[in-house]
Amino acid sequence: MPNADKLLVIEDDPAIRRLLAVTLERAGYQVVQAATAREGLSAVDIDRPGAVLLDLGLPDRDGLELIQLVRARTPAPILVVSARENTAEKVTALDLGADDYVVKPFDTEELLARIRTALRHRNANGAELQSVCADDVEIDLEHRRVLRGGAEVHLSPKEYEVLAELAKRPDRVITHAQLLKTVWGPAHLDRVEYLRIVVRNLRQKLERDAARPRLLLNEPGVGYRLTVHPA
Ligand code: CA
Repeated sequence: MPNADKLLVIEDDPAIRRLLAVTLERAGYQVVQAATAREGLSAVDIDRPGAVLLDLGLPDRDGLELIQLVRARTPAPILVVSARENTAEKVTALDLGADDYVVKPFDTEELLARIRTALRHRNANGAELQSVCADDVEIDLEHRRVLRGGAEVHLSPKEYEVLAELAKRPDRVITHAQLLKTVWGPAHLDRVEYLRIVVRNLRQKLERDAARPRLLLNEPGVGYRLTVHPA
């Protein structure tokens, strides 16, 4: 079993690696450090970390390949901590099995919040979520219905399916391709405009102010996230 309090940091830049280690140790985690993909993979096997933070730019292996190798070894969440503002790469990382990503220079509070979210949902895995609450909206996955302030909201089948996909993995970004594949099927992976329309309708029905959404958040070029504890 992965050890939830132990985090593995795979990062070749010693200054960033130390900064991450100090930040995480201060927050109460045990930290295992690896400077290369090879060291990281052996630490996954030996230390059984509860989550893996990895840099995509490592000297000895392609970061995207490393995600697949880590994913094959452990169910622990994988968070990409990357300097690259490359949207296509984030999407690929998520589609290959990463749980989330944080862009360097990272905000400490945001990083810790993302780690807590990833650990919480991994730990809850196995038991399917039956209902998810976000603000005054309740998504009842068991009975396929949505309530807002206790009153049932009428959604089209596609609106419900998109919302349910996001609700099954709350607080995590789900890529356009993942949503399109599940809701419309693999032949429609490039029809991001379908999603945009459905999300716009969902915001009209569920957000307090559809122009300033707090629940259904857009990750530009990547996907959408349902925030269950909006600030
Ligand atoms: Ca690097």
